Amino acid sequence: KPAQGGGKELKKETQLGLSTKKADDFSKWYSELVVASELISYYDVSGCYILRPWAFSMWEVVQRWFDDNIKKLGVQNAYFPMFITEDVLNTEKDHVEGFAPEVAWVTRAGNSEMDKPIAIRPTSETVMYPYYAQWIRSHRDLPLRLNQWTNVVRWEFKYPTPFIRSREFLWQEGHTAFATQAEADTEVRQILDFYAGVYQELLAVPVTQGQKSDKEKFAGALYTTTVEAFIPDNGRGVQGATSHCLGQNFSKMFGIEFETEDHGKSHAWQNSWGLTTRSLGVMIMTHGDDKGLVLPPRVAPKQVVIIPIPKSSSAPEQVAAMFEQVVIIPILKSSSAPEQVAAMFEQVKAFKASLESSSVRVETDYRTNYTPGWKYNHWELRGVPIRMELGPKDMDNKTVVLARRDTGAKEFVPWDQVATRVPELLEQIQADMLAKAKARYDACVETVTTWDAFMAALNNKHMALAPWADEEEVEEDVKKRSATADAMGAKTLCIPFEQPPLPEGAVCFASGKPAKNWALWGRSY
Ligand code: AMP
Repeated sequence: KPAQGGGKELKKETQLGLSTKKADDFSKWYSELVVASELISYYDVSGCYILRPWAFSMWEVVQRWFDDNIKKLGVQNAYFPMFITEDVLNTEKDHVEGFAPEVAWVTRAGNSEMDKPIAIRPTSETVMYPYYAQWIRSHRDLPLRLNQWTNVVRWEFKYPTPFIRSREFLWQEGHTAFATQAEADTEVRQILDFYAGVYQELLAVPVTQGQKSDKEKFAGALYTTTVEAFIPDNGRGVQGATSHCLGQNFSKMFGIEFETEDHGKSHAWQNSWGLTTRSLGVMIMTHGDDKGLVLPPRVAPKQVVIIPIPKSSSAPEQVAAMFEQVVIIPILKSSSAPEQVAAMFEQVKAFKASLESSSVRVETDYRTNYTPGWKYNHWELRGVPIRMELGPKDMDNKTVVLARRDTGAKEFVPWDQVATRVPELLEQIQADMLAKAKARYDACVETVTTWDAFMAALNNKHMALAPWADEEEVEEDVKKRSATADAMGAKTLCIPFEQPPLPEGAVCFASGKPAKNWALWGRSY
């Protein structure tokens, strides 16, 4: 019988599971979870983590989805070096000021000090744009739309958190140039929609789309748009991904100038946009529970695991390849005869083949050195959306058991319906996970109009949607005033694109001046 639930008992019994509950100590739960589920290993450089195959294969799903979408827009992939000379890095003043504290430098090669230290990219505007200036001469060279999938280094001093804030992280960065602002504006929003798609459609994580305040926008940008996620368990907002319109700021500094159709001269309008491995962290935090990861089917490396349950002594030693979305667990009894075991394994193989032909990612767990209960815990910890069990009774009845990771619900399914029921159930799980997360998210948005209500919302681990006069000094003041002995100050997460009507005469909750918009505020990562 499989051990039940998370907690210390389970951990002692099976060496699996988590010793900390999500509700008891969220950050301890998270650090334990990402290691126990084999997503990451800690590394001996602080703030850097090893992404193990279980995590990397989810990143690959995100990459494929996003890459296919941007290519349909006409974006091409390229690769630029990771090093930047000091002179080039200093070209755009606001940009360098924003990034300077986090830039890592190479100062020595072997035993000799470098004449001039070389920076490691924290982002690649300054790497790419000198070459954009060479390539873009005429309106016919536009638009130029490049993306790269790379690592970047930001020597962050805030406390590092796996996926969410690391010193080296993986991302894509798109850098595009257009003849007109209208084209640039359109692309900013198309990319932001893709980012919302990654979060909502793949990761089943709800987000709010909006614009960053001037204080929070990207260093050197004209404006920044964002998708903002929220972790209800610790009441912290997370900037999910950002799509910036750089305006002509960089093109003026780097001399990206082109001849217009009517033989005039103009500076290009530019955008840059990035999505990082942080997205996986937000997903893990949103859905994980006391038993481990809960993976949305669309990104799960394996969607079904099939576990046959045979007699341990008679089972052939077959260790299946890792990484499938479904784990199928055949279950044999100790009295099973070899022919029965063989028949069961044949059936498991048939399910695997038929599900794979419908593009379901399937894992089979034939291991005989573990009990069925151990295997259940193992695959629950790793978050596989559906477990399929096949035991001797199921062989007689020609049924299987499908157990959902997200709800724990079980159902018996006749063999001839497995191929249709599994994909249907995966879609159901995907939709249910988003709906559940969305309901929790929505319950965390409090509409407030006064300072007291604002503070009450924050201290209730909620976000506050408040009328605001859109002033940078007020934002700084709010950050200071809202900090308490045990909680950081709040900042604007975004000014949501979807704005409720602003009542006539509405005033800023913090300054009392006439409000310009509704801003979403929160304590955040
Ligand atoms: P930026 O280029 O600063 O707009 O960053 C792009 C995105 O990267 C942000 O919207 C964050 O979601 C994410 N991000 C920023 N810093 C980190 C970090 N240290 N680790 C992981 N992701 C990050």
